[in-house]
Amino acid sequence: MQIWLDGKTYPSHEARISVMSHTLHYGTGVFEGIRSYRTEDGFSAFRLEDHVLRLFRSAEALDMHIPYEPAEVCNAVNRVLEANELLDAYIRPLVFLGEGSMGLDVKAQGKRNPVHLMISAWEWPSYFGQSMPGIRAMLAEHRRVFSSPTLVQAKAAGHYLNSYSAYASAKANGYDEALLLDDEGHLAEATAANLFVVKDGVLRTPFTTSALEGITRDTIITLAKISGYTVMESRIKPDELLDGDEVFLTGTAYEVAPIISVNGQAIGDGSVGPITAQLTKRYQDIVRAMPPSLSHGDGMALTEKAYYTAIQ
Ligand code: PMP
Repeated sequence: MQIWLDGKTYPSHEARISVMSHTLHYGTGVFEGIRSYRTEDGFSAFRLEDHVLRLFRSAEALDMHIPYEPAEVCNAVNRVLEANELLDAYIRPLVFLGEGSMGLDVKAQGKRNPVHLMISAWEWPSYFGQSMPGIRAMLAEHRRVFSSPTLVQAKAAGHYLNSYSAYASAKANGYDEALLLDDEGHLAEATAANLFVVKDGVLRTPFTTSALEGITRDTIITLAKISGYTVMESRIKPDELLDGDEVFLTGTAYEVAPIISVNGQAIGDGSVGPITAQLTKRYQDIVRAMPPSLSHGDGMALTEKAYYTAIQ
């Protein structure tokens, strides 16, 4: 695997960092999860610019300055895909603090820890087309972490300790996924995906005060509206979830993933619902209809423009 680290591409065993990196000890990093898809003429990293801009916003929320321009990061992502000869792939950029201060005050005694950027990518075929029986979810005891309004929207490494533990507890109890509530007892999101409930043809999804503003969530909201459905951001109680006709998750990795039961209770008739199936198809069509990503020049901007044109 070829890894991009601080401006250069290395074989993975040569991409080294210090064991005293601040992020390794405190989780002070931010990252992205991006998917690229095989298109007719090559790979296309779906909504790459939006992911990269979110990476910059996440970094800003942690007062970390990424020493590149967003366009340079987009180009680096495309270069990593090329270097690894990938088409259907998952891309992981990670911004992290290196060696310097070992306290929480990283500006202490002028020892400002350097901000590093790493980009890796690996093959990760889309779930689409594989048999998808649906997710059996569990309502987690864990609550979505709300350290501050800014941090809710940061895709920060440290947040995932909570998701990791909620997911592990779902697995230990025989479920596939955990759904987390907010601190008022309303649904927030899954461990790394947004949540939608469909009832009588209306789609509801929790507010982003308690969930990450997912890029797939945004794509699905637009696709559902274009398909003629009403979509609302809403507070959703666990009872309303169980009473839904359909429930599904959205995320870059999950794409559109149906939930067929919660805590062992079937959602609807316990199979994948028609609206979920329709939106899955539309999502899969659009991610493959994008022009190929180019590694230089303004190819990235052209791809984003094509997305906004295609989805209207
Ligand atoms: N919520 C959380 C906590 C996530 O980690 C993710 C994955 N990035 C999502 C939602 C879905 O976001 P996106 O559609 O942008 O991948």
